[in-house]
Amino acid sequence: MQESATATPTLQAAPIVTLSGVGKTFDNGTVALAGTDLVVRRGEFLSLLGPSGCGKSTILRLVAGLDEPTVGTIEWHDNAKGRAAQRERNVGYVFQEPTLMPWATVFDNAWLPLRLKGISRRKAEGQIMTALESVGLADFRAAYPRELSGGMKMRVSIARALATSPSILLMDEPFAALDEITRFRLNDDLLRLWDEKGWTVIFVTHSVFESVYLSTRIAVMTARPGRIATEVIVDEPSPRTEAFRTSPKNGEIARRTSEALHRAMGE
Ligand code: ADP
Repeated sequence: MQESATATPTLQAAPIVTLSGVGKTFDNGTVALAGTDLVVRRGEFLSLLGPSGCGKSTILRLVAGLDEPTVGTIEWHDNAKGRAAQRERNVGYVFQEPTLMPWATVFDNAWLPLRLKGISRRKAEGQIMTALESVGLADFRAAYPRELSGGMKMRVSIARALATSPSILLMDEPFAALDEITRFRLNDDLLRLWDEKGWTVIFVTHSVFESVYLSTRIAVMTARPGRIATEVIVDEPSPRTEAFRTSPKNGEIARRTSEALHRAMGE
């Protein structure tokens, strides 16, 4: 079932990756996903919303190629094949914890994925500084993680993902551990960057309000084994502002989303 009034442009955009009938059973017998169907379209901000343990992170790991589905297929619509294709796809991954190396500077932390690709510090400098500038941390390039606040550490983690110019950005509850004011600020910065750069984002959250504020589309998941039960289209133009956060429209979409989540969990 699709809950939509008017379409947002990304609903008609070309698909980037399609999950069809995807199931994942772990070696210990845990069935994390069963019958997951999902089309991710270019330029959309898609949230995966569901209770803890419903398989949201598992979907991100499968899309990133860090794990294989037990059944079903994950099809990329880029015509590229094999290992080279996976390298080219450049999936950016931001985790709940910033996972920075404490002994390395902000710059060197952001350099890591490029370094792993064999790109020297000097050659990577332009890309890294652009990424640090976009998250407002250019002046902190020589700082160490211990000198940064929680929000700044998360910004470094985002810059690290951006430095590779990913074609798709996967974010796994990146703001869950931050205080509310910092979270709201990072929500706005993320939306500004998404709007400017035209990224495709898959964002995992269990917060109804965060998903409504950020997304163009919310895929609501069932409890484990997870699958997509329904989707909610958030038909609200960008840029979203503080006024939208507290608007009746936001409240109305959040109510619908919350009801959809409860139905999905009751199934
Ligand atoms: P979510 O991100 O929605 O909280 P996850 O995708 O992390 O959920 O996990 C889905 C289910 O699969 C959970 O019950 C979790 O404990 C289980 N799980 C995740 N990874 C593994 C693993 N490597 N081995 C066994 N079980 C796992």
